[in-house]
Amino acid sequence: MAEQYDFDLFTIGAGSGGVRASRVAAAHGARVAVAEEYRVGGTCVIRGCVPKKMLVYGAHFAEDLEDAKHFGWNIEGKSFDWARLRDHVQNDVTRLEGLYSQTLSNHGVTVFEERATITGDHEVTLASGKVVTANYILIATGARPHIPDFPGNEHVITSNEAFHLAEIPRRILIAGGGYIANEFAGIFNEFGSKVTIANRSDTILRGYDEALRDRLLQISLTKGIEFCFMAEFEYVEKQDDGTLKVKLTGQDERIFDCVMVATGRVPNIEGLGLETIGVQCGKRGEIVVDAFSRTNVDYVYAVGDVTDRVQLTPVAIREGQAFADSVFGGVEPYAVDHSCVPSAVFSHPPIAAVGMTEGEARNRLGSVKVYQADFRPMKNVVAARNERSLYKMVVDAANDRIVGIHMIGPEAPEIMQAAAIAVKAGLTKADFDATVAIHPTMAEELVLFK
Ligand code: NDP
Repeated sequence: MAEQYDFDLFTIGAGSGGVRASRVAAAHGARVAVAEEYRVGGTCVIRGCVPKKMLVYGAHFAEDLEDAKHFGWNIEGKSFDWARLRDHVQNDVTRLEGLYSQTLSNHGVTVFEERATITGDHEVTLASGKVVTANYILIATGARPHIPDFPGNEHVITSNEAFHLAEIPRRILIAGGGYIANEFAGIFNEFGSKVTIANRSDTILRGYDEALRDRLLQISLTKGIEFCFMAEFEYVEKQDDGTLKVKLTGQDERIFDCVMVATGRVPNIEGLGLETIGVQCGKRGEIVVDAFSRTNVDYVYAVGDVTDRVQLTPVAIREGQAFADSVFGGVEPYAVDHSCVPSAVFSHPPIAAVGMTEGEARNRLGSVKVYQADFRPMKNVVAARNERSLYKMVVDAANDRIVGIHMIGPEAPEIMQAAAIAVKAGLTKADFDATVAIHPTMAEELVLFK
């Protein structure tokens, strides 16, 4: 490697993509440094997927404890202590941050806990003023919540702050109809908040199969979550008593204790010095890369949310791995396959999906067969909980290949991870039919479609 530089690789951002790329590049023998201005681990570990999932678990006890009586359990005097859960989650986040830092140091990666800016060709300047040079630069700075522009938007919170609230708000308005809005609506609702979701369009979870979106909407309404559609902020005003007066288009003024926006995430490119060396960005502020995560500057690469390809942690990790193997691993450069990526929404109940929705399949393939199982899970029947699951399988009628699976119901993401292998591998409906069911499970519906 080029000894004229201080490092073979300088990574900006120690999130999922940056940590994987740095660690693997170091394991391949590269001299690696990484700069992180906040906390090692990035959005997923520090203020995203991981603590969110812990809150989802915590929230679900509200229903489990309620259902328990139907299973013979008498639970007296149950109560919920938000501060205990919040602090417990944060302690675990700190533990995980330590593990990530340890992984880097175990691999001999130099970590600079400060901001880094590109200040010249192959050159990065740290907040402390230290200048370092590197043969390659990897940008893995992720994304941050987008906050729409309206009077009073300084009074709203994002998911970043939701993890640290002093108390659970009595009334919360969540703007947006995507992943974060639906996941946190479920969380706050289970913790006892009165939740209102307001989205600019007339739908939730655009991109997911319509039948599942409808089912989640219906179940959420039954649980007491309120929805306002075609509603955008006109203004938010802070009242003397600390509450927030909110005016949405087409709605009367309403009072909430907390307003959270979850209206998408924007790539973190500001102040990186991209213009100094001419790294090209797209319309949404994303760093433009090719299939190998190469930017237009030959020694600069970018992975993860900052490229706005698929904003999911496991994708960023694969992009980081592919970059490190391709550049430092002595293998033929390879690209990450972004097709057939399974995904999940950790709503109450969760949604999981892989492949094409029914609508997409009809548009692209013409002739498709759709199989559907609409059922009440046994546990819900015993618990007298009138909440039905819905599984859908979309099959290419020309060759029997499964092109999409969509599920809403308990443990749908856990079930989907295995089912996604079959879809990715191009298995057919006949292959599923040939597999014996595990009874009684919810997942058996996947091999019993008629
Ligand atoms: P999403 O892209 O999921 O949803 C954004 C929502 O905000 C949509 O309902 C959209 O409306 C609306 N919106 C978009 N732009 C604006 C705007 N300018 N003004 C008002 N409303 C707007 O974003 P999230 O913030 O929920 O999550 C960000 C990303 O993080 C996700 O895309 C996902 O990739 C990732 N994520 C993944 C999770 C998981 O895997 N479980 C969990 C959390 C986040 P419209 O109806 O028009 O689309």
